[in-house]
Amino acid sequence: MFEKIVIANRGEIALRIQRACRELGIKTVAVHSDADKTLKHVLLADESVCIGPAPSVDSYLNVPALISAAEVTDSQAIHPGYGFLSENADFAERVEQSGFVFIGPKPESIRIMGDKVQAIKAMLEAGVPTVPGSNGALGSDPETNLRIGREIGYPVIIKASGGGGGRGMRVVRSEASLLNAISLTKTEADVTFGNDEVYMEKFLETPRHVEIQVIADEHGNAVHLGERDCSMQRRHQKVVEEAPAPGISEEVRNRIGERCAEACRQIGYRGAGTFEFLYENGEFYFIEMNTRLQVEHPVTEFVTGIDLVREQLRVAAGLPLSFAQSDIKIKGHSIECRINAEDPKTFMPSPGKIEAYHAPGGPGVRVDSHIYSGYHVPPYYDSMIGKLITFGNTREIAIARMDTALNEMVVQGIKTNIPLQQEIITDSAFKAGGTNIHYLEKKLGL
Ligand code: ADP
Repeated sequence: MFEKIVIANRGEIALRIQRACRELGIKTVAVHSDADKTLKHVLLADESVCIGPAPSVDSYLNVPALISAAEVTDSQAIHPGYGFLSENADFAERVEQSGFVFIGPKPESIRIMGDKVQAIKAMLEAGVPTVPGSNGALGSDPETNLRIGREIGYPVIIKASGGGGGRGMRVVRSEASLLNAISLTKTEADVTFGNDEVYMEKFLETPRHVEIQVIADEHGNAVHLGERDCSMQRRHQKVVEEAPAPGISEEVRNRIGERCAEACRQIGYRGAGTFEFLYENGEFYFIEMNTRLQVEHPVTEFVTGIDLVREQLRVAAGLPLSFAQSDIKIKGHSIECRINAEDPKTFMPSPGKIEAYHAPGGPGVRVDSHIYSGYHVPPYYDSMIGKLITFGNTREIAIARMDTALNEMVVQGIKTNIPLQQEIITDSAFKAGGTNIHYLEKKLGL
């Protein structure tokens, strides 16, 4: 196992990684920007290094500064967390070339999955169901593209191969606008992602977002840890997540999960990853793979009893997975609410000083947050200030505990989305389960 690692992230996930390291006896180096000297994990770290000014481009995205931090502290590995450089294949490569372990997949795996056309190809080879589509980049022949559109059937969606963050997509509802939409999306993709490759997919009208968690080691073992439902979204941003997904049978879970694990074996995947699917009328359709730890990993930890970060550290150190597929049993239900420093109605960020903070507690309640009374939420980064996660033997109990926990949680001095979360948790359609990805925006009148 490693003796010392650099945590190349901030906020709640940096603290989460630090906690896992502590349990394993690994020393931690916190790297931080000028604006983040008072982050909780920085104050608790064995060592800390300031890597630059507040803007992320100068600090958390500053590759030479991160590599030097690992060098001067004599660290062995770098954990990228999520966001920032976590899915940057060039960064992973630089880390490895500099003699450190990147706690994540090999750069080649990140590269393949970052290119959607290549990712879909890899999925087809492993038998993972994909959205009916062109199954490859669109060429320049208009007749061929019109024929592909007719075969798929309208509406279709044109997507950039190098796209991300919900950008580089265009829905087409009739043949008349297809060719124009292809050329517009191509031009945009070229400008935005430096890659004008686009492909075509069936546009699903009312899907749910269901994703499969996987983890794999370097010894050919790949295991799936069941699914999460993250359909409660606003502007493609997840707001509430849960595991398991309402209404998915064990048989269906195992079938789709095994295909994902098989895809990992085929591409020689290492580390934690998530296969994201749209789920409609009982069918799964792969849309993309995230080659990193996800914000919503705690709901999977609650229902499987597996510590995903601990396992990430183990497999990065070359150890085999500490469990087999047959050891994984999904038990109970878990829900996560993301707590953001923002106005619950306008969604405007609300940075500033936290005057008072009272964390909720009790049975089946987990709080992953770096905030404390007196902490200043800086204006430079993502507005998420923590995650509230609950567990119960049934979904009803997990919801009741979330309701109680949200009522107990007090954050004074800044605005938070706690009132919005209370509204969602007590919403009758949410309580019934299985709402689609448009539900929250419709409810909010957006
Ligand atoms: P990104 O990498 O930009 O997040 P995704 O491929 O994950 O791109 O798609 C982002 C979102 O766009 C999905 O969560 C879904 O809401 C919508 N979307 C993508 N493909 C389709 C599709 N074929 N049908 C319907 N909605 C889609």
